[in-house]
Amino acid sequence: MKKAVLLTSAAMIFSLSLSALTLGKLGDFKFEKANDNVYIMHGPEKEPSKENEGFMNNPAIIESKNGLIIIDPGGNYNVGKKILAEVEKVSKKPVIAIFNTHKHGDHWFANKSFQEKYPNVPIYALNYMIEQVKDNSAETWYGILDRMTGNLNGTKPFAFPTKGIESKQTVVVDGQTFIMRHYARGHTDTDMLIEHTNSNTLFIGDNLIINRFGAFDESSSIHENITLLEKIKKQEDGFKKYKLYVPGHGPSSGSTEKTIDPFLNYMKIIVAGAQKAYKDGIESYEIKPEVDKQLKNYHSWDAYEGQMGKHLMKAYEEVEALDL
Ligand SMILES: [Zn+2]
Repeated sequence: MKKAVLLTSAAMIFSLSLSALTLGKLGDFKFEKANDNVYIMHGPEKEPSKENEGFMNNPAIIESKNGLIIIDPGGNYNVGKKILAEVEKVSKKPVIAIFNTHKHGDHWFANKSFQEKYPNVPIYALNYMIEQVKDNSAETWYGILDRMTGNLNGTKPFAFPTKGIESKQTVVVDGQTFIMRHYARGHTDTDMLIEHTNSNTLFIGDNLIINRFGAFDESSSIHENITLLEKIKKQEDGFKKYKLYVPGHGPSSGSTEKTIDPFLNYMKIIVAGAQKAYKDGIESYEIKPEVDKQLKNYHSWDAYEGQMGKHLMKAYEEVEALDL
């Protein structure tokens, strides 16, 4: 009797481990229902690494009557195949559309794995994003992610987005309505915020990151990123109160206090520090210890050590440029 119970639980553990994407010590990842017909697999809150195989974003599924719509399928071809296998555990319906939120490869390189299975699937992104990735940013990100994860085999030739869209455009796929919003600069100059009206969900892309830090690249603006998150909070520019706010990395929730405030407040502290340094005629690194003390709540976020000083320097350059 005891033996039978043991055997059953061993079989259960075995089947459980088969039922999710497993990344070593990081554990199991799977799609979970996050809102009406919206499923999200929240990736590891870490920088890309060998351990996470380059999976650290939040791929999402919107289930329609006849198919599945995917937002940001993941960071490379190999991990994309595993993510697609997880998609198929949610539903056997075909993938009928893909959206990419911005030019960084950790969000869209896995288009490749989905396109392999669905060669004609339309892949939507901002027109300018498509220009940028074809120009050089796909190559730049291939280099970055290959160095950090060693898992980019098969990702080239790139599966670029195939359908260009513009800001304020509405895209309807099989009865599901998506409203696009682009701002000149934020996390990058190619960001597309996606509102899914059927479920009242807002996909914010990397304009919102929780529990980890990434780089602000040369196309980004910390000031504009702050303005954008404040617009969302104040429900300006057509933004509403949403049932679910989805960041590019980190947990989603229906509360702006829980989801938006941590990153927004971080950027505000960084900019205030940069402004003070600029006013006092000192360099950004000279004010770093003082700013660091105000950021105690963020010390546990992944990559804080490596990124905070860079963010402060970037904010300082923006303050300087704005003053000229
Ligand atoms: Zn990004």
